[in-house]
Amino acid sequence: MAKKTIKDVDLKDKKVLVRVDFNVPLKDGVITNDNRIVAALPTIKYVIDNGGKAILFSHLGRVKTEEDKAGKSLKPVAERLGELLGKPVTFVPETRGAELETAVNNMKDGDVLVFENTRFEDIDGKKESGNDAELGKYWASLGDVFVNDAFGTAHRAHASNVGIASTGIPTVAGFLMEKEIKFVGEAVTAPKRPFVAILGGAKVSDKIGVIENLISKADKILIGGGMTYTFYKAKGMNIGNSLVEEDKVALAKELIEKAGDKLILPIDSITAAEFSNDVPTEEHSGDVPDGQMGLDIGPETIALFAQALEGAKTVVWNGPMGVFEMSNFAKGTIGVCEAIANLADATTIIGGGDSAAAAIQLGFADKFTHISTGGGASLELLEGKELPGLAAINDK
Ligand code: ADP
Ligand code: MG
Repeated sequence: MAKKTIKDVDLKDKKVLVRVDFNVPLKDGVITNDNRIVAALPTIKYVIDNGGKAILFSHLGRVKTEEDKAGKSLKPVAERLGELLGKPVTFVPETRGAELETAVNNMKDGDVLVFENTRFEDIDGKKESGNDAELGKYWASLGDVFVNDAFGTAHRAHASNVGIASTGIPTVAGFLMEKEIKFVGEAVTAPKRPFVAILGGAKVSDKIGVIENLISKADKILIGGGMTYTFYKAKGMNIGNSLVEEDKVALAKELIEKAGDKLILPIDSITAAEFSNDVPTEEHSGDVPDGQMGLDIGPETIALFAQALEGAKTVVWNGPMGVFEMSNFAKGTIGVCEAIANLADATTIIGGGDSAAAAIQLGFADKFTHISTGGGASLELLEGKELPGLAAINDK
């Protein structure tokens, strides 16, 4: 998967189209978390430091109707970017047309421009999300080179990633994209061993493809979180009121058989009578008694997982071990974070929206080699699928 990166192209005097991921949370027009803008800075700075003109664009939320546009403009993002860069950023409130073309043609080397939410093109026939060829061609015509740095949408073929690239314009990865390809991509294609995968989160159904793909690739697969109880059920264990997907029990049974010793299930749970932080908790080995629901892995499981992780050289983790949002059920996720933090000389990757949030919220962000930002995209990469946005980047 050797892809060309931004370092492989000459940017001087070039109009550089950069597909960024500025899909930030907004409340009443105010950005509540600017992590994604901050994360895009290295690529943007590299373009301007190397004499390029940075033309930035991104989707923001879902836009299906004219009314959906309210509160989905990239204008506040352009303003925040200006503050972060300490220089003016031109915002064009259009996704195409004369105003945009004039603004682009007036750019000088080192200038930064942001144009409007690419999904505003979805109102009139899903042009962006449907990868409308004419739209991709139009955007490509605005620049000389295309840098795709939006890993989060790499599993989708949209006009703003695949459409532009398929016109034949030189297409390279930005720094964020490069990192994702390097860490997540290499973990599943060429892992240093032992390779331990940890899968948790709410549902088995979200992670079936990942478990199936990793059974043949990983040396061990540790299961935690809500999906535990569908596996318990498959083993004929009692699960009380724990989360279960009845229609996935048969599949869980198959996975248990297929994986053999590789698959390690929790041996104890922290339970409660309600999905709440305000009721007493109980600790149970194995079966969960009636009236209780399993909401975190227990201390014996933390120890078991820590032992299973010893000596690991590659760790991929997707899905929290418990309902970490409530302090009573965060210990399992913290325990696994600690075990990973203690590993010497291992490449450790955490991915998934909630898992990444958990690692950051619990104070372990700097303990991982890589925190993967793209939820769906990193899952599909872990499933061994080819991502259209990645495939469209030029090979080295
Ligand atoms: P990610 O976004 O990292 O892929 P998921 O979305 O699959 O993770 O799952 C995260 C959610 O799973 C969290 O909100 C967490 O509270 C929930 N969860 C974890 N363990 C349990 C459990 N035992 N019962 C119910 N929900 C759980
Ligand atoms: Mg999630």
